[in-house]
Amino acid sequence: MSGSKCTRLSGALVKQLLDSVDSVLFDCDGVIWRGDQAIPGAPQVINLLKKSGKKVFFVTNNSTKTRKMYAEKMTTLGFNVTEEEVFGTAYCSAMYLKTVCKVDGKVYLIGSNAMRQELEAVGIQQTGVGPDLISGKQADWANVPLDPEVKAVVVGFDEHFSYMKLNRALQYLTQQGCLFVGTNRDTRLPLEGGKAVPGTGCLLQCVETAAQCQAQTVGKPNHYMFDCVASQFGVERERCLMVGDRLDTDIMLGSNCGLKTLLTLTGVNSVADAEAHQKSGCAEKQGMVPDYYVESIADLLPALQG
Ligand code: PLP
Ligand code: CA
Repeated sequence: MSGSKCTRLSGALVKQLLDSVDSVLFDCDGVIWRGDQAIPGAPQVINLLKKSGKKVFFVTNNSTKTRKMYAEKMTTLGFNVTEEEVFGTAYCSAMYLKTVCKVDGKVYLIGSNAMRQELEAVGIQQTGVGPDLISGKQADWANVPLDPEVKAVVVGFDEHFSYMKLNRALQYLTQQGCLFVGTNRDTRLPLEGGKAVPGTGCLLQCVETAAQCQAQTVGKPNHYMFDCVASQFGVERERCLMVGDRLDTDIMLGSNCGLKTLLTLTGVNSVADAEAHQKSGCAEKQGMVPDYYVESIADLLPALQG
């Protein structure tokens, strides 16, 4: 394979790369869909990869859906997938708390109903999901009633995030031995037309600032997402490709785990962004330079149809 990085993937190189891997990890938003619309050609690419014997997995930092919800969304969009192939941060955080942290008690959850469901599916109870409106006097807020069984604070995407939730998280985190876990650090969620909304990273930083300590995070670029896939499906990292639209999460995850990396230009980052990291000379930023790039994953189609 080519020794230089950030190479445009086209022609014979596509088949050469696909022949060199057995498994492909796809980021979701900006790679196989944008919002509620499939990227044109993406369902065919996924379905043909699977038909040709490749193992295909989906790794998303979005914590607002369970594996089952993702599988349903993907089926509606024309992808041939099972929920076991989907690794979202709601599911992976539940697995992390259960198998790595071995949490022995409840979780105070700043997050979605989907996160509650994934936690409950591995036998972890939560408190906190839904609105928590501020009440009483400020002098009493440091003495809000706390659940004595809570052993961890977990922060994911929460549309009901509020001052009282932040306060409650702080009160739990000041207790001896309370674990602190975040789903991911994506700061902005891009929308159509160049617009964006605040991502989970904003909420997590807010709690970290209040608690004056750093959370462990589960999502990309942390290697846990890959470990989770590899432990369940026996993926060989030298023969695995990570496809993503973000350099600081997807491509960095691939680099952190020793995978081949492919940037697709249907989402957040551009080739110019990748080249800027490459030229910066900063060793840390080299992990954000992909091996290859394509305009869209539809560029893989000719090699799969041939
Ligand atoms: N987090 C949330 C809440 C999102 O809505 C999204 C994208 O829609 C993401 C994270 C990023 O998801 P992905 O890792 O699939 O790009
Ligand atoms: Ca993405």
